[in-house]
Amino acid sequence: MASTADSITEKLRALHDNFAAQLPGRIRELEEVWDKLRDREGTAEEQAEPLRILHYLSHKLTGTGATFGFSAVSDASRTLETFVREVMEGCHRLTAEQRSRINDHVEDLKQAATMKDDAVLRQETIPSSRPPRDDGNKTIYLVEDDAHLAQDLALQIGYFNYTVRVFNNLAGFRDAVSQSPPTAVIMDINLPDGNGAAAITETQKECSHPLPTVFLSGRGDLAARLDAVRAGGVAYFTKPVDLAALVDALDRLTANRVREPYRVLIVEDTVSLANYYALTLRQAGMITEVVSEPLQVMMALTAFCPELILMDMYMPDCTGLELAKVIRQQETYVGIPIVFLSAETNLDKQLEAMRQGGDDFLVKPIQPDHLISAVASRTQRYRILRSFMSRDSLTGLCNHTTTKELLSNAYSLAKRRGAPLSFAMIDIDHFKAVNDTHGHAAGDRVIKSLARLLQQRLRKSDIIGRYGGEEFAVALIDADASQARRIMDEIRADFAQVRHGEGGREFTATFSCGIATIPSHSHPAALIEASDKALYDAKRGGRNKVVLASGCG
Ligand code: GH3
Ligand code: MG
Ligand code: MG
Ligand code: MG
Repeated sequence: MASTADSITEKLRALHDNFAAQLPGRIRELEEVWDKLRDREGTAEEQAEPLRILHYLSHKLTGTGATFGFSAVSDASRTLETFVREVMEGCHRLTAEQRSRINDHVEDLKQAATMKDDAVLRQETIPSSRPPRDDGNKTIYLVEDDAHLAQDLALQIGYFNYTVRVFNNLAGFRDAVSQSPPTAVIMDINLPDGNGAAAITETQKECSHPLPTVFLSGRGDLAARLDAVRAGGVAYFTKPVDLAALVDALDRLTANRVREPYRVLIVEDTVSLANYYALTLRQAGMITEVVSEPLQVMMALTAFCPELILMDMYMPDCTGLELAKVIRQQETYVGIPIVFLSAETNLDKQLEAMRQGGDDFLVKPIQPDHLISAVASRTQRYRILRSFMSRDSLTGLCNHTTTKELLSNAYSLAKRRGAPLSFAMIDIDHFKAVNDTHGHAAGDRVIKSLARLLQQRLRKSDIIGRYGGEEFAVALIDADASQARRIMDEIRADFAQVRHGEGGREFTATFSCGIATIPSHSHPAALIEASDKALYDAKRGGRNKVVLASGCG
């Protein structure tokens, strides 16, 4: 079976062959334009248009030729293109000397077109920007000889959706790792049958992937910490263990790294080049859309929602610079990265493009890995910037505005599909008292741990937002009233068991929750209002409860 990479390589080769087949026609087209200009006297104005076409055709060949492995063609057309541009900038009739030079350059280009290409299209392994998949099943091996502590930690960590296996000695741990390595390890340093740090160093050597490890110890001295670091430990906790911080560390270590693929819009009038960029980026795991008629770009922007635009500089209907300005004049696209692509090697022109709102300037022909890394790094930065605007800084969840927007989208989608949708409002009980008794910082950690619990228990497709101080809003996609109630009630019960604070000042907290559903409510605002009312009922009914809005089943 051919892999995706193979089939993309095949398609790239097909593009190359296609270019080779079209090359004689393109040279002829260019020659015809030149023939007319050469054989006819005329004013500067009369010559301007054919000169512009000559420049455009040679410019296109410069970019495509080199990209598809015809560097002789590319070099010859670049010489022609540069000379024609100088002539155009002079704004007067062609002199005899200029005619003869253009004629020579056209002849050189014809000659170059008969030469063989650069053998094979460069066969590079294109780096993948797609991170490894995570199947969502996170197993933690906990090695701790204090049976009581081990059991307690396993239980608490278990609330955050980790499967914990406890070992009270190193021998059992080693056996288990060799059979099936865990997602991460929590390792006590002092164990009856040896030193935990040394054991990890040994085990790492036998594993094909590094084992993310967190160390626990009764000792907080530098020597013990150094041992842990040398064994590759990424976090170190002294006993009594701060649970919130431990779960935080595990979350970081096992973070679900499956990212949505980057979405790149390619605006390029030369279809073969556009396809070449698209294939290259797709091979790196991105999603692409091609616009080869620049005036169609607005439609593609709204329909495709790109995160970056790869923009050709010279196109027939308008230039890339003009198009960039138009795009940037719209509020929604003010921040979208625009990367110009052109055979333009003139630094002044490149700088001008950047001044006009381009984020980068890539010169054709561009190496696949360079294209991928330029696109990936800018798209990633754009995502981070956008997330600052739409995410709550304490929990990383969607903020109030974004939550409402997403709910509204989810609502329309569910209506269209005739699918169920449930909306839950959550409010932590007596939270003022938590702050008053344990301090604001402890209160913050409670908010974070509820955020984390929601993220881990709900589906990836569900929408989770921090609606206000200690209030959360959740849209459960495809869940009807009874399913939503069951899920939220399980989370409620588990949250009530999670211990916050540390040492002798541990405490638990609870939340109340109100749920409303489609189809009982026929507008997003009505859903929110009904769930809010149900939440109020839960509070009045004694708190630590999940209540369904009336009429929701
Ligand atoms: P109820 O069970 O009726 O919801 O009681 P409550 O005390 O939770 O209700 P109330 O709305 O009166 O108090 C909410 C408190 O949450 C008040 C506010 O100081 C606190 N709070 C809001 N945002 C934050 C935050 O980001 N961090 C911390 N630590 N506290 C917050
Ligand atoms: Mg072009
Ligand atoms: Mg409140
Ligand atoms: Mg409250």
